[in-house]
Formats: sequence, C-alpha cells, structure tokens
Amino acid sequence: MDCLIGVDIGTTSTKTIAFGPEGQTLSSANQKYPILYPEPGFCEQDPEEIFEAVISTIREVAGELKVKSVQPLGICFSSAMHSLIAVDTQGKPLTRVIIWADTRSDAYAQQIKQSPAGHEIYLRTGTPIHPMSPLCKLAWLRDHQPDVFEQAHKFISIKEYIFMKLFGQYVVDYSIASASGLFDIRDLRWNETALQAAGISADRLSEPVPPTHTLKGLSEEWCRQMGLKTETPWVLGASDGCLANLSANAIRPGFASLTIGTSGAIRVAATAPASDAHERVFSYLLTENLYIVGGPINSGGVVFRWFRDNFAIPEKEEADRTGTDPYDLLIEKAKSVPAGADHLLFLPYLLGERAPFWDAKAKGVYFGVSIQHTRPHFIRALMEGIVFGLYSVGLAVEANTKSIDVIYAGGGFARSDFWLQIVADVFNKPVRVAESIESSALGAAAMGMYALGIFKDLTEVERMLPPSREILPHADAHATYRKLHSIFAGLYDKLKDDFARLSELE
Ligand code: ADP
Repeated sequence: MDCLIGVDIGTTSTKTIAFGPEGQTLSSANQKYPILYPEPGFCEQDPEEIFEAVISTIREVAGELKVKSVQPLGICFSSAMHSLIAVDTQGKPLTRVIIWADTRSDAYAQQIKQSPAGHEIYLRTGTPIHPMSPLCKLAWLRDHQPDVFEQAHKFISIKEYIFMKLFGQYVVDYSIASASGLFDIRDLRWNETALQAAGISADRLSEPVPPTHTLKGLSEEWCRQMGLKTETPWVLGASDGCLANLSANAIRPGFASLTIGTSGAIRVAATAPASDAHERVFSYLLTENLYIVGGPINSGGVVFRWFRDNFAIPEKEEADRTGTDPYDLLIEKAKSVPAGADHLLFLPYLLGERAPFWDAKAKGVYFGVSIQHTRPHFIRALMEGIVFGLYSVGLAVEANTKSIDVIYAGGGFARSDFWLQIVADVFNKPVRVAESIESSALGAAAMGMYALGIFKDLTEVERMLPPSREILPHADAHATYRKLHSIFAGLYDKLKDDFARLSELE
C-alpha cells in the first residue's frame, strides 16, 4: 500500500503520521517539548529539541511502516506560523525559536502599525501587524540585541531550520513566508517596505518557493538515522493554519473552517487576499493562488475552562463521583435556559483579543445581569459569548471574501452538539463536523500527495476525510441571536477606553 508521511511541527509537540490514500492512519508518533518563558512576555523554544522531535518521530513512524512492509512515497511538513530564529553563517542558532505567542515586540507592533507605511505593509503582506509577526520581532531584535542582529546570517522559521540542517539549503514555502509580515502575498517575493521597517535586506531571508517544492537526495547518514531511502521526496508543505483548512475540507469558496480549541479561529479559502480597511483579518497563502482569509481569537475554549476551574465546583464533585466530564454537566445546566440566556451577554475577552480588533487590553464582561439570572444563564451566556466573538470575525471575513455557505467545525468544542448548535444558530449556516478532529498532519500528507502528482487537485483531499454529519440552524434562535449580537458588537467600542484605563492600573 502507498502512504505519505505528514509531519506537523506544532507548539506543544511534533506529530508525525503516515496516511494511506484514503486517509487511513498507518502509523503515528508524537513528541512533546516545552515552551520556555525566560522573561515576562518572552515565549521561546529550543530549536534543537524540536529538530530532535522531528527526527525521532519520523524514525518511529518509518520503523513501524517497515514492519508493515509499507514504503512511504514521500514526506511533507506543516509547521506553526510566525516563528523566528537568528542563525550564523554555519547555520548555528544565535537565538532560541521566538514563537507566535511572544509579545516582547508589542511596542514595535504599535509603532509600525501607526507609521505611514503601516497600512500598506498590512495590505501587501496579509499579516496583521502584531507582536506575533516576525516583522515586529526583527525590529525588537535590531534594537535590543544589536550584536545578534548584526551577526545573524539569516533569520528563519523552525521549518526552514529543519530543512537547512538536513539539506543545507535556506528555503521557505510561500505559506510560512506569508505569515512573516515580510512577504508580498500578491507578487510572491519579500516586500521592500516591510524589510525596511525590520531593518534587513532580502538576502538575510530564505528563498521563497511553492509549498509543493520538493527536495531529494537526503544524505545516507540522515536516511540511516531515520530509516528512509535517499530517493524519498521531501515536500516543504505549508503552515498549520492553512493546512488545517485543507484537512477540514474548507478550500472551496464558501466553505469555512471554524475551530474552538484552547483558542479559536474562522478561516475561508479565497482566490484574492483581503483588503480590509480596519485590518481585522489575515490573508495567508496555502498555495501560490489560494489564500486563506480569516482571524484568530484568544477567547476560545480556554474561557470555558476558566469557568470550569473557578465556578464549577459542584459539577467537578459530581463528575469525580460519577466518572463523567464536568464540561458535559455544565452544558446540561446551560440547556435549561433558552437561546440568548434571557438577554444576559458575555464579552469573552479574558486574555485580550486578536481578531477582529487586536486589542491586548480588552477584558471580559457579563452585561445585562438582572435578578432572574441564575448560574445556568451565566454558563449559557459564556458559551454564546465565545461564539459571538467568532461571529464578529466571521462577518469581517465575509466582508472581504464572499458569503459563507457551510461551516466545518473542529477543536475540543465539537465534542458538544449543544455548542455546535449554538454556532449553527448564531451564524445561521449549516455546520458540518467530522468524526475525527481536524489535523494539520493530514493536511500536510494531502499537500504531499498533490506535490507528487498522486492528487491532481487539492480538493481530492476529500478522499482522505471521514464522513461528516450536518447540524442545521434554527430560525427562531437565529433571530434572537442577531438582536443580541448587535448589542454585543457595540459593547467593545463603548468599553475600549475603560479597558485601557483598567490596564494602566496593572
Ligand atoms: P487544544 O486547542 O489545546 O488542543 P482542544 O481542541 O482539546 O484543545 O480543546 C479544548 C477545549 O475544548 C476546552 O478548553 C473546552 O473549552 C472544550 N471542550 C473540551 N471538552 C469538551 C466537551 N466535552 N464539551 C464541550 N467543550 C469541550
């Protein structure tokens, strides 16, 4: 049987999975690594530790395939976006991996965003100007670690680091490049204005190539270490965010992928990037002519987890006693109140918020509390508030692309049909959910199949996906939600200045 190995270099672990052409998992391996927090706002990882995780998970998967007498046709990569490593002329790291969650460059983000070139940089690069962006991280490095900045031969992402170590080449796929804040997503080359803002020239970055770019001829030593053949093709692949759309089957116009895990996101595929006057959404490249337009939210499942950990003492006790899940017990309570929680609203911005308004100072608020509200109302309003946050992003995405017809849902929240129904009702769209959760490793394997000509078109990914079931919206609930969302959406604007004043007290 043929198979393709997908490697997903994530923030908490690297997951390597061998998939058959119908999506069957033939072998998988996972290796975790920590996030390091050396100073407030700094979020780093050890590049060597991630490299080791990639090599050892590939070795484990290749070993298992050998036992099954299956020969991998190729190997293809997904990786987290926005990472930055400075390396010297020998390719030796001068910094750790500065990851997406790092906020040290916040002041630079604000400065670049408000500069005369800020809006053009956003439009040309597709990346919101935010401390997550390598553009802002470079500006910080230039001023705070000038020695490292000067000495650096290249500034690369974690995936480039891995390919550099294995093949001795500095190459970056358009997808990872498009999340750097430095890459022109229309012209497919490094953007001069952004490079100037970062203080570097293009020769200090890798050569941008399509995600289907394939390298062969890995050295015998590395092949021996991993149990692969030298002729096995290595496909660069794309970013985890874009590949998650592929594995969610959301790469046709009108198909959206909506996830609520710890954080959340809504993303659609489009043939042109967004030109959003308010800079609310990103436009990243999946391939040279397919953009993934969307927005990430901080206020995803972590907010429900916060409620569980702080206010669900009775449910936790009952769950311990009966061997059930406290989330399920909380949801049972929420079901006892009607859609709209009798007009109790919740702004879920406990961690500040990224899309749609990109404000780290935003806060959580229960609004409209009255004497008839009970604990179940607070649970339901919280779940609805998270979905309202995503709906605001969904409206910004639609304003820049076309209207969404179907939503493919994924992430931990999709374990609850009740929460899925809230999404269907708030958006007034059918929601499809697959039996197995979305996986960027599967997206990578599908991209590999496409690069190697096994799939003629990326939409053939459908062959690899499990059947999905559909949840339809209820018109009555949607009518209620529409009215409440219009109040919800206005609240942030009214409270913005007071959120900032509260932050100043911290
Ligand atoms: P991560 O993004 O960290 O991989 P998951 O995708 O597993 O996390 O999602 C975790 C979130 O999913 C939790 O914080 C919680 O809000 C939500 N969740 C987990 N289990 C359930 C459940 N049974 N019902 C509803 N929501 C759930």
